[in-house]
Amino acid sequence: MSKTDLSAALFAEASRVIPGGVNSPVRAFQSVGGTPRFISSASGARLTDADGNNYVDLVCSWGPMILGHAHPAVVAAVTRAAVDGLSFGAPTASESELAREIIGRVEPVQRLRLVNSGTEATMSALRLARGYTGRAKVVKFAGCYHGHVDALLAAAGSGVATLGLPTSPGVTGASAADTIVLPYNDVAAVEEAFDRCGHEIAAVITEASPGNMGCVPPLPGFNAALRRITAEHGALLILDEVMTGFRVSRSGWFGVQPVQADLFTFGKVMSGGLPAAAFGGRAEVMERLAPLGPVYQAGTLSGNPVAVAAGLATLRAADDAVYAALDANADRLAGLLTAALSAEGVGHTVARAGNMLSVFFLPDSAPDAPVTNFDEVQATQTWRFAPFFHALLDAGVYPPCSAYEAWFVSAALDDDAFGTIAAALPAAARAAAAATDPKEAHG
Ligand SMILES: *Cc1c(COP(=O)(O)O)cnc(C)c1O
Repeated sequence: MSKTDLSAALFAEASRVIPGGVNSPVRAFQSVGGTPRFISSASGARLTDADGNNYVDLVCSWGPMILGHAHPAVVAAVTRAAVDGLSFGAPTASESELAREIIGRVEPVQRLRLVNSGTEATMSALRLARGYTGRAKVVKFAGCYHGHVDALLAAAGSGVATLGLPTSPGVTGASAADTIVLPYNDVAAVEEAFDRCGHEIAAVITEASPGNMGCVPPLPGFNAALRRITAEHGALLILDEVMTGFRVSRSGWFGVQPVQADLFTFGKVMSGGLPAAAFGGRAEVMERLAPLGPVYQAGTLSGNPVAVAAGLATLRAADDAVYAALDANADRLAGLLTAALSAEGVGHTVARAGNMLSVFFLPDSAPDAPVTNFDEVQATQTWRFAPFFHALLDAGVYPPCSAYEAWFVSAALDDDAFGTIAAALPAAARAAAAATDPKEAHG
């Protein structure tokens, strides 16, 4: 067991001033138990915690850090920008550079606006879709997470799924009533919803390839069907690429599967670890935003020069070699996971969406069970995850602390890091094999 005294003390102190000791719920280790590690520094593929333990990082700040931590080019760009001033509340040239960089990669995006978080991006895209169409309803899919926007918290993935919350108090009936939640990957359910009330639906929003219920990629033709159905009914399609954007390819999921959505949302990788995000799409839709149009959207720190510098430096450093390394590292990690779990006879599948992956534990009775929607994810043996997680953590590997989150590789993972992972996995697989279903233990 690693020593965690200092993390435990810091967590106790944090809990006196911050609800649950964390500023984002999934960090609290609630579903896996134990002490969240307080991180003091990170470099390349590794994190160092307050007690001086080192971990190979397979979370990458929940996606953004594709280059690894404290990448010299990004740190230099941030430092240069900071020296020139932290925020002006006036336009800067670098904002257009970042917008051009993104527009150059995702062809349907003709105009882009910068915001501060993925939540803000989806919230603003939704308001714009409603303002543009003059309609109120929005379709989302169970298990997809689009940030903590009121209207999009119903049946959400990520921490909402991890903590088993049905939805959230504080979301009014009125804002939830305009949200239609459908099962993921179910074209017939979408067609049925549009047959029933298509003229009231402003938009369908979907993760371009979901990663917030674990990785559950769209079945062939699913995103294209959403494009067709929304177009037939005058509704907009919003592809949420906050997680996949500029991670799974230089053009995100659009580079894997080019579906022409009306609006896209971005975050995570595009700001290189600083708070910035964006939404963009067809000029005709985007130009309904203030000051050109009546749909209001604003932000004191939007387009912040330091965050923009981090994003630009990250995207520019992410060349073909980086994407090849990300893919190769995901293949190598998936191979190690499968080998270790198979050696212990643990039924599982390693789901992949480009270089994102997640591990689903499957019952012996259904070793080939499909995992194509949230119900099927919830039917997996998520109770094997906590002991698996803690065995990895104790051996110096830092996986996501929830069975419902994707694992993220960086290009900085090297042979040394993979050596640590390979050494950690056999005991973790044994811990997963030895886990028992809490439902059966209680009869
Ligand atoms: C992380 C995420 C968000 C929310 O982004 P924040 O920056 O955490 O607000 C939205 N959509 C998807 C798909 C995400 O993965």
